[in-house]
Amino acid sequence: MSDRPVRVRFCPSPTGSPHVGLVRTALYNWAFARHAQLHGAGGSIVFRMEDTDRERSTQESYDAIVDLWRWLGLTWDEGIEVGGPHGPYRQSERGEIYADALARLRASSYTYDCFCTTEEVDARRKASGSKVMGYDGFCRDLSGEQRAAFEAEGRRPVVRFRMPDGSITWTDLVRGDITFDTEHVPDYALCRANGDPLYTLVNPVDDALMEVTHVLRGEDLLSSTPRQIALYAALTELGIARGTPEFGHLPYVMGQGNKKLSKRDPEAHALAYRDQGFLPEGLLNYLALLGWAIAADRDVFTLEEMVEAFDIRDVNPNPARFDLKKAEAINTAHMRLLSVDEMTDRVLPYLRDAGVVSDPLGDADAQLLEQAMPLVAERINKLTEAAGMLGFLFVDEADFRVDEADAAKLLDESGRAVVQASYDALAGLGSWSTAAIQDALQARLVDEMGLKPRNAFGPVRVAVTGRRVSPPLFESLELLGRERSLGRLQAALTP
Ligand code: GLU
Repeated sequence: MSDRPVRVRFCPSPTGSPHVGLVRTALYNWAFARHAQLHGAGGSIVFRMEDTDRERSTQESYDAIVDLWRWLGLTWDEGIEVGGPHGPYRQSERGEIYADALARLRASSYTYDCFCTTEEVDARRKASGSKVMGYDGFCRDLSGEQRAAFEAEGRRPVVRFRMPDGSITWTDLVRGDITFDTEHVPDYALCRANGDPLYTLVNPVDDALMEVTHVLRGEDLLSSTPRQIALYAALTELGIARGTPEFGHLPYVMGQGNKKLSKRDPEAHALAYRDQGFLPEGLLNYLALLGWAIAADRDVFTLEEMVEAFDIRDVNPNPARFDLKKAEAINTAHMRLLSVDEMTDRVLPYLRDAGVVSDPLGDADAQLLEQAMPLVAERINKLTEAAGMLGFLFVDEADFRVDEADAAKLLDESGRAVVQASYDALAGLGSWSTAAIQDALQARLVDEMGLKPRNAFGPVRVAVTGRRVSPPLFESLELLGRERSLGRLQAALTP
């Protein structure tokens, strides 16, 4: 298949909240395709929603996935929401296509009808003492009479794929040559007895019809690959597929204690990173490192650099460990790469959500934000942190509150004495500028009163910004203005 233009797919199942492992898989597919595009080797991405499991699939999960992909900037060329020549792209809308493929397979010798119940298969396994799990091939060669007898009992068959004898080998793009002895791969069902198609059928049929050339997916699907390769041979023979795609199985993402990161682990939920104020490029950069490296000793890179350098053959097959601290550090590195203007654009939706500024942004707030952002741009590690740092500037005086715990620590009796001295020093100040404010406070609190700077400015900071962590104090006072600053100092004097 490697001579055909590269086509890959995103094909999540919309069940539950999207997992970071799913995003890592999508990212590798995206980078692989965009790299191929750079080199004129095709590089289309198809986005298909695998919602055949009606009980577990939800619209909420579908929407969350689309939302997440858009936020991340993982673009696709055809598929859900955008359309394309191979639609529809929701499996729940492709029933006729699967019925047709199934009918063609059923009419061939690649499959057979199977009437057994699970209980019967289990009972036979017990009786024979066999350790082999899965189907035992009982209905492989039913006579016409046996068939008729089953049908007379009112049984409806499933269509089972007849695994060929021998072995199946493929060269995995991540793991090299892999061979499965088909003795250990039982014949498998392609549909339920009511005719509903199963994942075993729809996933390869769709990849075939959507002309997917490279299947890059999680290691958990490795055991289904020999079955799919055997099915591809049949689909190709029947004129449904144009060959077998290449496969690459990506390493597991591990959480704490050498266990796979599961949906129960809070750090597994990809959308939570957006809510926490990660940059999409920060999260993607970190997820890229779960199995791949751009170079030794280099962790931070842009998506363009990743696309340029990405080769699926460099992916490490060993399990990768998810490390939240490292994810945060990588995100911080990307925060530092943003200009103040870019950071302001990114922070704005979070400030709106937190109610710090209104939507649309008024002129006065826009101006204040422009002045304030340079003070915090180097100090915040996540976009959400801006709201806590800047809230004191935008809040109405009537709504201004001092953090209780910070007040208890710093606005005790001696803290209030510092606030009183600061008020006195600032009340008569001629020019309300950062330099003048700094000089006045320094002279009164440090030089005259002999306080250490930490003890001197902490109470003032809590009184005017409401918190112990704030933008630089003197600049903050200037931006806040004389009246509001003095008012807050005064208010802090009454316990
Ligand atoms: N919908 C399948 C899953 O989420 C994808 C399987 C595949 O990539 O082939 O597990």
